Amino acid sequence: MENKLVEKVTDIKSMTLDELKAYMTEIGEKPFRAKQIYEWIHVHLVTSYDEMTNVSKALREKLKECAPLTTLVQEDLQISRIDGTRKYLFCLPDGNMVESVLMRYEHGNSVCISSQVGCRMGCRFCASTLDGLVRGLTPAEMLDQVYRIQSDIGERVSNVVVMGTGEPMDNYDHLIRFITLLTDANGLNISQRNLTVSTCGIVPRIYDLAKENLQITLAVSLHASSQETRMKLMPIAKSYDIHEVLDAVSDYIDTTKRRVTFEYSLVGGVNDTDEDAKKLAGLLDGLLCHVNLIPVNPIKERDYVQSNHERVVAFQKKLEKFGINVTIRRELGRDIDGACGQLRRRHMRG
Ligand code: SAH
Repeated sequence: MENKLVEKVTDIKSMTLDELKAYMTEIGEKPFRAKQIYEWIHVHLVTSYDEMTNVSKALREKLKECAPLTTLVQEDLQISRIDGTRKYLFCLPDGNMVESVLMRYEHGNSVCISSQVGCRMGCRFCASTLDGLVRGLTPAEMLDQVYRIQSDIGERVSNVVVMGTGEPMDNYDHLIRFITLLTDANGLNISQRNLTVSTCGIVPRIYDLAKENLQITLAVSLHASSQETRMKLMPIAKSYDIHEVLDAVSDYIDTTKRRVTFEYSLVGGVNDTDEDAKKLAGLLDGLLCHVNLIPVNPIKERDYVQSNHERVVAFQKKLEKFGINVTIRRELGRDIDGACGQLRRRHMRG
C-alpha cells in the first residue's frame, strides 16, 4: 500500500477574523487579506474562492488546496403550500445530511438550524434521535445552513433558532464559536437578541452558557411538570433532575437578566391535564419566563398522540390563570414532514 501523506486542512469558515489574520501570516500572506476573505465568506456568502475577485489567483489556488471552503449542498427542498415554510436537506462535505427550516413571519425570516448529525438524547417523541448521534457539526457547517438559505431566498435572515436536529449543548464549543461568528459585526451581524438556543436541559452547560455574557434567548425543553413524567419522555432527566434544571435556569436568569423560554410539547394523556398545568405553574412561579406549548407532532415510530385543540387551549388558560406567560406555537409546514428529522430519515432509507 502506498504511504499517503495526509495534509492538514484548515477550516477557515470557522475562524474569527483575528484567527484568519494569524493564518494569513502563517502562510506568508499579508494580514489585510484576512478582512477581504472574511467579507467574501461571511457577508457576500460566496461558495468558492474563485468568486473572491480582489484576491490573487495564486492565493486562491493555494487556499483551495490547504483550506477548502466548507459549503453545504442543497439535496432537497420542500415548500409548504399552506404557509411558504421551506424545509431544506443539506449535504455536508463528508456526505452526511442535515435539515434546516426557513419560516416566514411578519417580523422577518427565521431559520431553524441543526447542531448535530443525529442526536443521542433519546427523547421519546423525537424523530431526530431514532438512529443516535453521528457527530457534532462544525461552526462552519452550522453557519452555512443560514448562509445557503439567505442566498437561496435572496432576503436577509433576521432570526436564527438552534432547534433543529441535535443537542446544541452536546456540541458546546462549536456552538459558542458559531454564535460569535453569526453575530459578528464584520459578518452577517445577526443580533444576539434574535438568536435562540434550545436545550433538553444539560445542567452544567446551562451554568457555563450563563457566564458567556451573551444576549441570546435560552429555550429549555421541559415537557413535564414532575420528575416522574419527565423521565418517561426524556432520558436526560435520569442524569439531571427537573429541579436541578430549574435551579440552573434560575441562575441563568439572575446572571443574564434574560427571559427564558420553556418548551412544553403536549402529549395526549401523558402531560396535558389541568393538574399538570397547575403543577407546572407552581414550578415556574416567580421565574422570568415564557411557556411555549407545542402540540406533539406524532412520528410513526412511536404511538404518542397529539392533545386535541380544546385540551391545548384549556392547558393554556389554566397556566394563564396562574399568571404564567404562555403561547401556543403556530404549526408551520404541516404538509412537509413537520417533525424534526423526518426528511433526513426519509432520504437515509431511500
Ligand atoms: N435538543 C434540543 C433542540 C432540538 S429539539 C432540545 O431538546 O431542546 C427542538 C424542540 O422540539 C424541543 O423542545 C423538542 O423536545 C421538540 N420536539 C422534538 N420532536 C418533537 C415532536 N415530534 N413533537 C413536538 N415537539 C418535538
